[in-house]
Amino acid sequence: MTVNPSGWRPSTPANEEGETQTVTGNRALMLEEPLLFEIGSTEQSGVDFPKFETNSGRLGGLERNRGIGLAGLSEPEAVRHYTRLSRQNYAIDLGLFPLGSCTMKHNPRLNEKVARLPGFADIHPLQPQETVQGAIELINQLAFWLLDLTGMHGVAMSPKAGAHGELCGLLCIRAALEARGDKREVVLVPESAHGTNPATAAFAGYRVENIPANKAGRVDLEALKARLGPDVAAVMITNPNTCGLFEPDMKAISDAVHAAGGFVYCDGANFNAIVGKVRPGDLGVDAMHINLHKTFSTPHGGGGPGSGPVVLSEALSPYGPLPFAARYPDGSFKIVEEEHAADEHPTTFGRMVAFHGQMGMFTRALSYILSHGADGLRQVAEDSVLNANYILRSLEDVLDAPFGDTGPCMHEAIFSDRGFGEGLSTIDVAKALIDEGFHPMTMYFPLVVHGAMLVEPTETESKASLDQFILALRSIAGRAKAGDQSLKAAPIHAPRRRLDETLAARKPVLVYKEPEPAQAAE
Ligand SMILES: *Cc1c(COP(=O)(O)O)cnc(C)c1O
Repeated sequence: MTVNPSGWRPSTPANEEGETQTVTGNRALMLEEPLLFEIGSTEQSGVDFPKFETNSGRLGGLERNRGIGLAGLSEPEAVRHYTRLSRQNYAIDLGLFPLGSCTMKHNPRLNEKVARLPGFADIHPLQPQETVQGAIELINQLAFWLLDLTGMHGVAMSPKAGAHGELCGLLCIRAALEARGDKREVVLVPESAHGTNPATAAFAGYRVENIPANKAGRVDLEALKARLGPDVAAVMITNPNTCGLFEPDMKAISDAVHAAGGFVYCDGANFNAIVGKVRPGDLGVDAMHINLHKTFSTPHGGGGPGSGPVVLSEALSPYGPLPFAARYPDGSFKIVEEEHAADEHPTTFGRMVAFHGQMGMFTRALSYILSHGADGLRQVAEDSVLNANYILRSLEDVLDAPFGDTGPCMHEAIFSDRGFGEGLSTIDVAKALIDEGFHPMTMYFPLVVHGAMLVEPTETESKASLDQFILALRSIAGRAKAGDQSLKAAPIHAPRRRLDETLAARKPVLVYKEPEPAQAAE
């Protein structure tokens, strides 16, 4: 079969810059890519099947009587389509990926090799447990590392992402409160919290109230203390917080919350900055999720997979979910399920997932931890903080750093859009970064900083790569301050120019419609 020639069209029909267009729409080796439906037709098949003898009579009159409406592509056409699209994407393996709060870090290839070992990759969750002792041991070993690094008492390995871990932690808190007959209805969340925190609290049935931040970008301790009372079930605090700052009053916050009969949930998404340096258990935390896909390097983005184990204090551990991996004195391992619960975990709140979590993520995370060792993990935290402070101090003369004078940041540096020229905003800077070959930083989050730009370089960037990023951002910031309106046209070198992202998010076009009236196949 052949490519539908009418499918090829130039990428940027209007050319404000007066560039010459190619007839194919291709730009050197960056190839323009039509939709699947424009390459192959719905009337064709990519594979030659022999004509079927009829099966009629066996399908009860439900036989398909027209085409399925999918484009028929040959294998090379399909492979090229997706490979070309992948070349228009940006990835951590291409360059610095400064998304703050996401910890987009290098994924060591050793992790991938280990995760693909058949003893981990080719097993089934319903296999008899005696045939997968090594895999259960791996989950158990990772659990002990997480307990050691956090100074906590128990850990639920099954939650499948950070937000899922938050829900697990709040369900433990609810179970603990119910066990003492305490009906509390409110969860306090700081203004700067990630959106998942209030969403989780509401999903778990709590009313959410905000705690204000002080001028230094930290939780206002006095305001928090004033709000505590017999109706507060928990506070959810992110530490280091989403402004990239350590909450130095964490212990005082925990003491006050405990004295008022509540629990402390810590959002541990930013654990990368303090891993090996600070143990959340020592700060009075009762529950904290760890995003293995952030701190412990397992690949993420594009929707998964994630893994969000939750470490629990002694007070909450009895309520943790099933199932979990346990080690017995004879050296054997077991996934403890409902049928063992009465003997082994009677006060569990129940279960959240079908099986026991993300095996592939566990494998990668343990490989990462063991290859770094305790001292290596401490170095990860130190280097990630050093890199972020290098960016903060290299840019604070050209970009407003709202908390720059409160001391060093943790693993992410935050800037605002203060001082930008008329009509220019953070999005213009972000789009211009694309032209310079970088993925934009996190924009407009956290909400407490106007036009926030949250930059997280991670520990694996070299000084040379940080310097190149700084050079690009310094130049763009200078243009923004000078009111250079050409920034509004950025990106100009990307495969697509600036898109209406709101429309794309609110009204995505997910179904292909034939330009001409479809012709039903017999
Ligand atoms: C990433 C993140 C979350 C949510 O984690 P997921 O794994 O994406 O569900 C929650 N809080 C903060 C601060 C985060 O950065």
